[in-house]
Order: sequence, then C-alpha cells, then structure tokens
Amino acid sequence: MPPPPWVGVVTGLVSAFLPNTRSEALARLEAFLPIASDYGASRNHVVPGHPNVSRLSPATRTRGILESEILAAARMQYAPEVIEKFEQEVWWRLYWKGWLEQRPEIWTGYREALNPLRWSDRARAVTAGESGIAILDHFTRELIATGYLHNHARMWWASWWIHGEGLPWELGAHFFLQHLRDGDAASNTLSWRWVAGLHTKGKAYLVRRSNLERYVAADLLAEHGDGLERLESVEVRSLPWQDPSPPLRVCAADPEPGTRSGIWIHDEDLSVERSPLSGLSPAAILATAPAGLWEREAYSPDKRTFLHTALADGAERAAAHFRVPGETLDARDLADALVAWAGRERLDTVVALAPFTGPLADEVPGLAAALGHRGVRLNLVRRPEDVIVMNRATGGFFGFWERVRGR
Ligand SMILES: Cc1cc2nc3c(=O)[nH]c(=O)nc-3n(C[C@H](O)[C@H](O)[C@H](O)COP(=O)(O)OP(=O)(O)OC[C@H]3O[C@@H](n4cnc5c(N)ncnc54)[C@H](O)[C@@H]3O)c2cc1C
Repeated sequence: MPPPPWVGVVTGLVSAFLPNTRSEALARLEAFLPIASDYGASRNHVVPGHPNVSRLSPATRTRGILESEILAAARMQYAPEVIEKFEQEVWWRLYWKGWLEQRPEIWTGYREALNPLRWSDRARAVTAGESGIAILDHFTRELIATGYLHNHARMWWASWWIHGEGLPWELGAHFFLQHLRDGDAASNTLSWRWVAGLHTKGKAYLVRRSNLERYVAADLLAEHGDGLERLESVEVRSLPWQDPSPPLRVCAADPEPGTRSGIWIHDEDLSVERSPLSGLSPAAILATAPAGLWEREAYSPDKRTFLHTALADGAERAAAHFRVPGETLDARDLADALVAWAGRERLDTVVALAPFTGPLADEVPGLAAALGHRGVRLNLVRRPEDVIVMNRATGGFFGFWERVRGR
C-alpha cells in the first residue's frame, strides 16, 4: 500500500530520534545510560518522544551495535540489580533469535500462512489508521511516519488486531515488518505469536482500556480518547495450538583462510570488523541493499532509506578495518549481483556472517547454488557467542535468563 501523504513531513525528524549509523547508536546509548537506572520503573509508560526507553532497536536489529557492547556499557555504570530489567530486555532479543533459529519451521509456517492472505477492507482501514479507536490510530500513524513504536503500543495494537478485530495475526505481523526499522523475523513473528496465545499454551495478551489509561501519557490519551470504550470488552480469540518441535542445535562454522575471498555484508549483521571475520584479509568487500527482496516484502520507503544508510555505514567501517575498498550495491537480483562481483574480483570464496532465520536466510540456498555454479564457495560464519547463547533458548525466557545472566 502507498504511504499516506504526511509521511515525508515526519521522516526528516526521525534520524535524531532513532540511530541510523554506528556512531549515532553509540551516541544514543551514551544519552540513554544516565537514565537506565529508572528503566525498570518507567519503561512501560508511553510518552511522546519515548524518553524512557533506549530506542536502540534499529541498531541492535542490524547489529550496528552489539548486544554485548550495550550490556558491557551498562555494567560499567551500574550494579547488576540496578539494571536487571534493561539487561533482561536486551537478552529477550537474543532469546527470540535463538528460539526461532532452533525452530525454523515456525518461520516457514508463518510465511506459508501469510502468502494466500489478502487485505480485507477492514484490514486496510485499520492499517490506514482508521480503526475508530483514536489512540490506536495515532500509533498506526506513528509507526508509518517514524518506523518505530513503543513496546507497549505494539502489544496493544497487535492484541486489538487479533482479539478485537479478529484479523489474521500473520497479516498484522507483516504490516509491522513493512514499517518497523527494527523489523526482525524473530522478535516480530514470535511477539505476535505470543500476543495471539500461540507461544505459551493458555496465555494470550489482552488489550485493556485500564492498561492504556495507566500507561499512556494523560495529554496524549486526552487528545486521542475517542473509541476507548471499545477496549473494555475484548475477549481472547482462541487460535489452534500446536506444540513446538524439539529444538535443533545451532552450529558454528569458521571462516576458512587460504583462498581469495571477499566479504559480503548484509543488514542482519553490520559489525563484521567486530566478528570472527575480523582477522581475514579479503580481496574485496561488498554490502548489498537487496532492492528486489525489499520490494517483494513491501518495505516502506523510510525503512529502505534507513537500511541503505546503515549498510553504507557498515561497508565504510569494514573498508577502514580491512583496508580494501568497500562498495554498497543496490541489488535487484541478489544472486546475480554476488556472482558478478565474485567474477569481477576473481574470488574463490564469498565469506559472510550467517543471516538469521528470516527473509534473507530464505535466499541463501539460491545464492549458494548460483555462486557454486561459478566455482565460488559461500562460507557462512556464526559468532561463537551467538551459538552458545542461541543453543540455550530451548524453553521459556526465564529459564534462558537464569542460564545466560552474568555472561
Ligand atoms: C507485536 C510486537 C512486535 C515486535 N516486533 C519487534 C521487531 O520486529 N523487532 C524488534 O527488535 N523488537 C520487536 N518487538 C519487541 C520490542 O517492542 C522492541 O524491541 C522495543 O520496543 C524496541 O525499542 P527500544 O530499543 O526503545 O527498546 P528498549 O526498551 O530500550 O530495550 C533495549 C533493547 O532490548 C531489546 N528489546 C527490548 N524489548 C524487547 C522485546 N520485548 N523483545 C525483544 N527484544 C527486546 C531491543 O533490541 C531493544 O533495542 C516487538 C514487540 C511486540 C509486542
């Protein structure tokens, strides 16, 4: 769907609010740390400008900044018990990543269910900010304009979509992925499933008027109060439960030296210079903006611009680290682009950090085959710390947290 006309007006204000590059992410973290000790008490409050939360998520999603860096910086300033809630939230992302990585069929199932779905008139109205519940419509406009929503607003919005409107959760999750700058296959899909009652048996998340009245800033709710009464009587819509499959092990792979290699950089991990690839001597570096994939996924113009900027920043940092030119390429056909680059640079191996389960990882078998036809190997490497952590995301979050806290 085309973006509404007011989008461009607001987008220009976003970069100060959300980080695009690593240096902006580091500055955002520095600005957030002095208030991190209040996070546990204030994080659930939805206040214009979202001063109570870090707004680091676009950078964590693309790994312009690493979770380990955020946790270490917070621990430098605070005792663990002071920032426990913040640490837990940072770990939630890794938990979701590990949980999905161990059960990729959840992602495939979501995609298969999404494919035949069509936008009903009601789904169109709700995603155009015309649900009739003014505060949720405000959140819709905020999401489209800024590429960000507060966690609580995401929960209320998703819950209304699923349990209030009775719309398919997969379509709502897709709408979020189109617009969220931090849109992530694991955090998004699994959070939507959790709200729907599909993650923990017998537990769905239900939106309540009283909850909004408690947590939305009074002025904001007063300005957008119409239709709030409709949130008083929402009931859980039971969706068919399926037991999750047993977890698969996430495996490590090392970068293999000795051949003429090039490093491929993608938007799932933009810190190759802080990764197991850092010791390689690549002949070339290529960051790809997979325009064809973004088009198929109908990513918003704002999200594409953000990803492009973040990719160029990642390529620039990698070029400085490895001392070879770093190129950022708009790749309508990703396989063609990688094959042409590997040919031009006479590469034997293309090395990359392994994309996590999600739209880009879905492309990997095709990319490996296309490169393989030209005698080029695709060597995908995982961070050892990811492998350790992800293999611990076997059950619920709090068991995971007990196993990882203090790492
Ligand atoms: C329906 C729904 C969809 C969501 N979709 C996404 C998504 O696509 N991508 C995404 O990154 N998060 C998603 N979340 C989780 C969460 O809302 C965002 O991570 C958080 O709002 C980001 O804002 P922040 O950086 O200010 O977070 P902060 O509160 O400052 O937290 C710091 C960091 O911890 C991580 N984090 C915080 N809360 C969560 C959480 N509940 N789950 C996982 N990681 C968390 C993020 O990396 C975040 O940057 C979703 C939540 C819901 C309910």
